Amino acid sequence: AEEMLRKTEMLSAVGQLAAGIAHEIRNPLTALKGFTKLMSNKGTGNESYIGIMLNELNRIEQIVSELLVLAKPQAVDFVQMDLEPILHDVIMLLESQANMNNVEMNIDLKPGMRVVCVENQLKQVFINVLKNAIEAMPRGGEVNIQASLSDNHNIIVRFADNGSGIPESKLAKLGEPFYSTKDKGTGLGLMVSYKIIENHQGSIRFESVEGEGTTVTITIPGVA
Ligand code: ADP
Ligand code: MG
Repeated sequence: AEEMLRKTEMLSAVGQLAAGIAHEIRNPLTALKGFTKLMSNKGTGNESYIGIMLNELNRIEQIVSELLVLAKPQAVDFVQMDLEPILHDVIMLLESQANMNNVEMNIDLKPGMRVVCVENQLKQVFINVLKNAIEAMPRGGEVNIQASLSDNHNIIVRFADNGSGIPESKLAKLGEPFYSTKDKGTGLGLMVSYKIIENHQGSIRFESVEGEGTTVTITIPGVA
């Protein structure tokens, strides 16, 4: 619990700063990307350089949009929602990536479970976690998504993959800004997810066996 407290305090300070910077970077970035595309369309530049520029600009854009999620929500619109359509949307969004990686996604939940959430933020968390599961199975596998209701009206959503797993010594690093073991990773997905789930008065837990797989358990308050 102490570890978690330290992490949350660090995250709110770092998060506010990061979101502020991301916000400032967004406008010049949009301009740069627009002019680069224009050069590409008009053929007024070296095509291969422009290709690299657009790739790198897209990467900056991805980092910026991840960091923007950390911004203090203006009007916090927490609403009651059905969990089922939220999870289905997320699965649909990642279907082609899963197919390309020979990953099968299975879902098991009872209808009628409701959560109190900011829909887009909760979706972002599920996307981050599910994407990590898919990326942990480069040679294919399956993710089992299961949702249930606890006695004290919490919604528990589990994502269990049979991918690479995480060494025990690295578990504490999850959610640290820029911690990534991937070539093209940003190391921001879990930091953002921790922050969002904290805003939802919930928790995220990781259990993993190296070489066997990982289970991510997200708990958020449900509606009685
Ligand atoms: P990124 O995906 O950009 O690397 P994340 O914050 O989403 O950043 O994840 C951080 C790191 O946590 C990943 O690089 C990976 O090493 C590890 N990780 C997260 N989820 C899983 C998982 N399901 N299986 C194995 N490793 C994982
Ligand atoms: Mg990720």
